[in-house]
Amino acid sequence: MAHIAIHADKMTLAEKDALIRICPFSAIRHEGDTLTINAGCKMCRLCVKKYPQFVQLVEESVQGVDKSLWQGVAVYAQLTERGVHPVTTELLGKAKELAGVIRQPVYAVLPGHPTDAAARECLRYGADRVYVYDDTCLQNFAVDRYTACLEDFITRVKPCALLFGATSPGRSLAPRVAARFRTGLTADCTKLEMRENTDLVQIRPAFGGNIMAQIVTTRTRPQLCTVRYKIFTAQTPDDHPKGVIVPMALPDGARAGDIEVLHVKRKPREVDIAEAEVIVAAGRGVKNQRDLAMLEELAEALGGMLAGTRPMIEAGWLDPRRQIGLSGRTVRPKLIITCGVSGSVQFAAGMRASDTIIAINTDPNASIMSLAHVGIVGDLYEIVPALLKKIREGGGLDV
Ligand SMILES: Cc1cc2nc3c(=O)[nH]c(=O)nc-3n(C[C@H](O)[C@H](O)[C@H](O)COP(=O)(O)OP(=O)(O)OC[C@H]3O[C@@H](n4cnc5c(N)ncnc54)[C@H](O)[C@@H]3O)c2cc1C
Ligand code: SF4
Repeated sequence: MAHIAIHADKMTLAEKDALIRICPFSAIRHEGDTLTINAGCKMCRLCVKKYPQFVQLVEESVQGVDKSLWQGVAVYAQLTERGVHPVTTELLGKAKELAGVIRQPVYAVLPGHPTDAAARECLRYGADRVYVYDDTCLQNFAVDRYTACLEDFITRVKPCALLFGATSPGRSLAPRVAARFRTGLTADCTKLEMRENTDLVQIRPAFGGNIMAQIVTTRTRPQLCTVRYKIFTAQTPDDHPKGVIVPMALPDGARAGDIEVLHVKRKPREVDIAEAEVIVAAGRGVKNQRDLAMLEELAEALGGMLAGTRPMIEAGWLDPRRQIGLSGRTVRPKLIITCGVSGSVQFAAGMRASDTIIAINTDPNASIMSLAHVGIVGDLYEIVPALLKKIREGGGLDV
């Protein structure tokens, strides 16, 4: 870490004005008699080069943590009405793989009430220890109480990494926990790798999906990240797990949270393309909104759902919850048929792990063709009706 220091007391007014003008990012400002640098500073060091007599680059030595004190890969186990959220079981599978590299245990941390069945579920999916905070005050998700539990868990157990599902509770908890420990958090990772020195390499698309950034928290612990549902695969559950459940006492003050849940109103079940086993995805090759009916029919005939690329959503032709991709949902169906989709990196980021990909496109060189298991070069307006006819005649889809 470094910062820029300006010795404004040694400068004339003219020199101060000249220094302000030299910064290409307008980061230097007058503040009374002195000069300050704001958050716009990009550390380009131009000011240091031009005025070395007044401006200095100050290197700060940052004390790193003793990494050997932080052991184990932990997963925040999200409790739902139907047991743990499936992203938890996926993350436990990944945690097992990561912990295997450094020969450390896998933990689940489970706040909620009641937790018995969910805790056993975590054991079956690979946790060596499930730390349970069970109290009636945790029955409904309250971010302040849950954060207090996670803070307590980290302080006592000291895991080297903690993985959260990128669900609404996971996304609101992770940054609060990161702030309490002044540590790094990487959102929406698509790949995780563990180094021998326990540094977690958190990989995610950056700059609009044009690069895959590798982010490493080298100086602080724990390392926190969120991962969307359906990015990883849950391991086959073990019906005779050897792990243990560790009851934890509710931390002091957690009961007196600032949030009181007065009433819970169920939302109607939303369209969730992430759950679909078959998806028909519409792209800009579809010329009219009414033509989507043909793709909807194909989806229905296959017992699946209709989804689409971002332009379909931007045109108002499809509900935003049906968007696949970097700024939409991640899907992992058994079968996806893309119709008139080019296969941009942003779209592919949300569906490349699908079991079988069939692409219908007039352009044999479209990017989607290199991703597809089966590429059909042709006009979707001819191919989709032909597929429908075949399915209705009972021919199914031979892929
Ligand atoms: C930060 C950022 C985030 C983004 N996030 C997303 C995201 O989450 N999801 C997403 O989808 N996009 C996203 N985008 C947009 C993305 O870059 C692409 O613009 C978009 O995916 C293209 O959609 P498309 O394939 O439908 O359209 P196009 O790229 O225009 O492709 C249309 C395809 O249809 C084919 N075609 C045309 N007519 C026919 C026909 N009759 N029969 C068969 N094929 C035909 C063409 O050959 C072409 O390949 C994002 C962009 C940015 C910058
Ligand atoms: S380092 Fe660059 S951006 Fe920062 S104050 Fe100096 S000139 Fe401006």
